[in-house]
Amino acid sequence: MSTPTSKPVDSTCKGAFSLKDFLSSFFLIELLKGMHLTGKYAFRSKITLEYPEEKTPLSPRFRGLHALRRYENGEERCIACKLCEAVCPAMAITIESDVRTDGSRRTTRYDIDLTKCIFCGFCEESCPVDSIVETNILEYHGEQRGDLYFTKAMLLAIGDRYEPEIAANKLSDAKYR
Ligand code: SF4
Ligand code: SF4
Repeated sequence: MSTPTSKPVDSTCKGAFSLKDFLSSFFLIELLKGMHLTGKYAFRSKITLEYPEEKTPLSPRFRGLHALRRYENGEERCIACKLCEAVCPAMAITIESDVRTDGSRRTTRYDIDLTKCIFCGFCEESCPVDSIVETNILEYHGEQRGDLYFTKAMLLAIGDRYEPEIAANKLSDAKYR
């Protein structure tokens, strides 16, 4: 059985590589390559933006901060069917409901814990009355855990404030559904 032997170093080959390296260093080839690359991109249109002064356009389907919507007469859309609560994979939604004196069912509690939410959009997709939606709002934060716990009043307030934008996004996306 033959034993493996190490190959002898090819001194000619080693010398050729050294000469190539020497010439490359002498003529500053790497520097010239770098300058060529810089020059190639220096005058192209820039793809970076100066955020927050400049912003990229958002899709009407962007999934940002949640909101609860109302009808034009001020009545809240949500009928407390709890489909959104059932479909939410993160179990971030908590709903309690009651029947009003006029016989209609409405939520008495509608909370979303955004520290659990994964912004999948299932709640919006499941809602039969377009009540719960995800807006294009992405610039918000919380400084304590509780700040990202949104109650029904907070969600309705967001819906009231951004209804024109929400309605416009729904309208522009409607033809693709
Ligand atoms: S976006 Fe997804 S994870 Fe967040 S509340 Fe809706 S269903 Fe739950
Ligand atoms: S937000 Fe929509 S899906 Fe959720 S309970 Fe209300 S009506 Fe049902």
